[in-house]
Amino acid sequence: MAGTDTHAADGQRNVSDWTNKLRAGVLGANDGIVSTAGLVLGVAASTTDRATIATAGLAGMVAGAMSMAVGEYVSVSTQRDTENALLAKERHELATDPEGELKELAGLFVARGLTPELARQVAEQLHAGDRTLEAHAEVELGISVHHMVNPWSAAIASFVAFTIGALLPLVAILAPPPAHRSWVTFVAVVVALAVTGSVSARLGGARRGRAVVRVVVGGAIAMAVTYGIGRLIGTVV
Ligand SMILES: [Zn+2]
Repeated sequence: MAGTDTHAADGQRNVSDWTNKLRAGVLGANDGIVSTAGLVLGVAASTTDRATIATAGLAGMVAGAMSMAVGEYVSVSTQRDTENALLAKERHELATDPEGELKELAGLFVARGLTPELARQVAEQLHAGDRTLEAHAEVELGISVHHMVNPWSAAIASFVAFTIGALLPLVAILAPPPAHRSWVTFVAVVVALAVTGSVSARLGGARRGRAVVRVVVGGAIAMAVTYGIGRLIGTVV
């Protein structure tokens, strides 16, 4: 029975892992949509030259995707280094002072509401098995040793998510004839943001209406501002 329960818990954790990854992907795509839409609308407001708009959009897409990937790599690496250092310290403490660590673990269970006797029993059983470090990592440090994120996969995932998002406004601005570029892009982006906002709210268990309004209004403001700047600079220069 215990085996089955462990499997059920692992299954649940995998689902929430997957949901979190998907949600991060949707948010990354959102970034790609909004920043590239702002960029190409700003350029399109000052020129009708298709090559100029395409160059700016592509450069913005690559720069944005790279910057997201590097940022993600650095942040996940740093987190992993910190977690590895904490695990090494814990491993050392377990090897040099097992009784002290046993008391510490029992104390943490008491703090969570167990009676001292039961806490001691639980801690002793965890120390008797071969998953002692795992138990300390989870209870004491809040680290799950089986779910450490790889910085490379995190970096690649955000690169891909941003690029997929960026392609939408890029296609929307380049496909139609010059007179219709801006409004087609604006409408395509608003629709796309409504979809991504709705999906990420659903994944995060939040109320959908509010999330959609937030992301659509935010994106619309970003596009209006860059379009305005493009118009202004296009007329002045
Ligand atoms: Zn410990």
